[in-house]
Amino acid sequence: MSETSREKPLHAPTDQFPVRGNELLVGGIPLTRLAARVGQTPFYAYDRALLTRRVAELRAALPAGIKLHYAMKANPMPAVVGHMAGLVDGIDVASGLELNVALDSGADPREISFAGPGKSDEELKKAVAAGILINIESFREVGVLATIQQQTGWTARVAVRVNPDFELKSSGMKMGGGPKQFGVDAEQVPELLAEIGKAGLGFEGFHLFAGSQNLRPESIIEAQRKCFDLALRLAEAAPGPVKFLNLGGGFGIPYFPGERRLELGGICANLATIQEDARHKMPEAEIVIELGRYFVGEAGIYVCQVVDRKISRGHTYLVTNGGLHHHLSASGNFGQVIRKNYPVAIGNRMDAPAGEAVSVVGPLCTPLDILGDRMNLPEAKPGDLVVVFQSGAYGASASPRAFLSHPDLVEVLV
Ligand SMILES: *Cc1c(COP(=O)(O)O)cnc(C)c1O
Repeated sequence: MSETSREKPLHAPTDQFPVRGNELLVGGIPLTRLAARVGQTPFYAYDRALLTRRVAELRAALPAGIKLHYAMKANPMPAVVGHMAGLVDGIDVASGLELNVALDSGADPREISFAGPGKSDEELKKAVAAGILINIESFREVGVLATIQQQTGWTARVAVRVNPDFELKSSGMKMGGGPKQFGVDAEQVPELLAEIGKAGLGFEGFHLFAGSQNLRPESIIEAQRKCFDLALRLAEAAPGPVKFLNLGGGFGIPYFPGERRLELGGICANLATIQEDARHKMPEAEIVIELGRYFVGEAGIYVCQVVDRKISRGHTYLVTNGGLHHHLSASGNFGQVIRKNYPVAIGNRMDAPAGEAVSVVGPLCTPLDILGDRMNLPEAKPGDLVVVFQSGAYGASASPRAFLSHPDLVEVLV
């Protein structure tokens, strides 16, 4: 299907992975050969050339000087984080164990930041010891960090995560505006800044994150502009100059029928305007955007194998050895309100016509275990390889892998 077609696409674009003959190619390797190399199904495969290309394309579109951070919760596989660390300007972590992986990746600790509600005292101490930037999300964290700094003499580098007084429109998951467990409400920030000043913590800036999985440029533009204006206002109460301004991200990727890739033009032009404003009003600030799924989501596939083919009252089911326990989000159970199909293909029958309507299900004893509901696919048999695209983010690490005690998955970076 052509992406420029005016008609609504039947499935999200999957043309990032080329096809040779009847086989999908991953990292240039035909899928059946890759499956043999991995040695088992199910597995996730991430294509390193696609990761590299995605970062390069975004950098080429963005104004020079905008920093890119990888939010590693989207895909914390150490090899992926290591590859990303060589491409982006920093890594954002959300737990002490993610911090270990980020440090192992070789990322400069000065360019690692740590956000998340409920950071434990141990995690905060670890972060101070590592010399990374801590995005403060509560008054309690100021107190704990003040004690750590006093006891150790190590500077606690901090930014304030702000819960903005607006929401990111059309976002798949709202993470700012209204009451939230994330960040500190904008109206409480001046008081928090005063405490940071009193405690003598190393204030460096602000972190604002309004939401994620947004495919509408207008609403991302509006959120970034509002976040910047809010940061300008809050900076007046700051104990020092703003050196670091993380405006969030929220760039979405197309998952479902009718969705298209995000248009970057307007977003990049808007960031150029913000950068120009910042040159005058916040001259020491480095502007950062942090992205997770946008970098990795389209670079990954999940592969499982057809075990059985059943017909129930006229409807064909392909029963596979993979499912919800490995890929909760493709099953529609990771925060989706209405279940929709991720793009799915039979990876060793790419040249066959999509001639039959089937449901692709997993082996779990629950009706929630669906990878594709009533999709048109080539006729598949036991042994064939089912591919779920757009699986590079929120896959393996976001799934209940112990549920029902089926064999675990493997992840490879190709
Ligand atoms: C989850 C998260 C991200 C990444 O979101 P994506 O939709 O994967 O880009 C970025 N920043 C923060 C603070 C997050 O919690």
